[in-house]
Amino acid sequence: MVTVFKDLVPENTHPLNVVEVASEKEAVAYRPKRIPLFEVYMRMAEELAGRSTCRRLSVGTVITDPGLENVVAIGYNGNARGFPNDCDSPTPGACGCIHSEMNALVKAPGRLPEKVAFVTASPCVMCAKLMIQARVSHLFYRAAYRDLSGLEVLATGGVVAVRYDRWKDESASGSSG
Ligand SMILES: [Zn+2]
Ligand SMILES: [Zn+2]
Repeated sequence: MVTVFKDLVPENTHPLNVVEVASEKEAVAYRPKRIPLFEVYMRMAEELAGRSTCRRLSVGTVITDPGLENVVAIGYNGNARGFPNDCDSPTPGACGCIHSEMNALVKAPGRLPEKVAFVTASPCVMCAKLMIQARVSHLFYRAAYRDLSGLEVLATGGVVAVRYDRWKDESASGSSG
């Protein structure tokens, strides 16, 4: 048996990405011909990060259902509804903005299991715990945040976290070869 990771990212163990085939020859049929859906959602998260009003860091989040068919929530970091579109304070770690992941999770259906999260930066400890609590099964992040303890929390809580940048520079059309 040969294990094929459809998006060529072996860390991506999401069930939609993994298929077992009998031989290398059969594996060829799964060679990607266009950018993976995982990458499309990651790019959506990057677009959302552009909406952030935080002066310290711009982060975007997309949360989908387990089949990656529907976006169930989006988020980016910033102040609360009706508050000024600015941080409360310039002090590092105390800017008062709601984190991107939190903004998405308050809108995501909590009872839906095995949600998939796409975040432009790896989460902080509290957001990592909220992901576990909100029944997120897989979290894809573009870049690691300087403090990696959130990733340790995800691992402890059984959430698969995948750094996802393999397709970052590929054109969406795929026609340029
Ligand atoms: Zn802020
Ligand atoms: Zn956070």
